Amino acid sequence: MASHLETTAISLSRELGTLDLGGRLALVAGADGRAVFTTSLGIEDQVITAAIGLNRLPIEVATLDTGRLFKETAELIGETEDRFGIEIVRFHPLKDEVDEYAARYGLNGFYESVEARHACCGVRKLKPLARALEGASFWITGLRRGQSGSRAETPFAEYDAERNLIKVNPLADWDIRALRAYVADNAVPVNPLHARGYPSIGCEPCTRAIKPGEPERAGRWWWENDEKRECGLHVPEAAIPSLNSSSL
Ligand code: SF4
Repeated sequence: MASHLETTAISLSRELGTLDLGGRLALVAGADGRAVFTTSLGIEDQVITAAIGLNRLPIEVATLDTGRLFKETAELIGETEDRFGIEIVRFHPLKDEVDEYAARYGLNGFYESVEARHACCGVRKLKPLARALEGASFWITGLRRGQSGSRAETPFAEYDAERNLIKVNPLADWDIRALRAYVADNAVPVNPLHARGYPSIGCEPCTRAIKPGEPERAGRWWWENDEKRECGLHVPEAAIPSLNSSSL
C-alpha cells in the first residue's frame, strides 16, 4: 500500500506541473516541513537559486563542497551569494573519511575502478548530502529530463524512500534554451566553464568538456563505460553495489 508521503508526492507532482518555476518553488516553500535545495552551481541550479533569491522564498540553499571542485565553481558560490543576498551553506566531507579513502584507494583511486569511484562519491558527496538533508521534508534538485536517458522520466515530485522525504524537480520539463533565456533575463551568474564545453560540471578530476553531438553528461566520469553513470545522489544506493558493500 502506498504511504502518505508517496500519495502526497503524486498529487504534488500533478499540481507542480500546472505552475511556472516561481509558483512551483513557492508551493513547496509554503508546504509543511523544511525545504532544502542542494546546488552544484550548474546552470540548472543557478536558475533555481535565482528564483529562490529573487522571490525571497524560505528555502535553505546548500552545496556539497567536495574539496575537488573546479576553481571556477568555488568562486561562483560567493558570487551567487552576493548577487542574490542569500547564504549557500557548504557541507564538506569529513577529514577522517577522506584520509581513510586515500589510504585504501589512493587520493585519485576513483580512476581505477567503479567501486573506488563510488566510494569517493560516497565520502565526498553522499555523506555530506545526508547531513544537508537531515530533518528535511522536501529536497529540491535541478534534475531535467533532457540531461540524459536515465533522467528522461524525471517527475516534478517523487517519494525518496531511502531518505524518507519528497524530492522535488521543478525544472524537470525545462530545456537548455529556456535555461539560457532565464539566465539572460535575470542576470544570473553562471559557471564560465559552460562556455568552454562543459554543460554538466562536477568535481574537476571527474569532468571533461564534451565534443559536439555528445550527450550533456558525457563528460562526467568519461572513462567509465556505462550509459547510466551517476554519483549516487540521484539513484537509490541499492542500485550501486559498491556503496552498500563499502565501509567508507
Ligand atoms: S566526482 Fe570524482 S572526485 Fe568528486 S566525489 Fe565523485 S569520484 Fe570523488
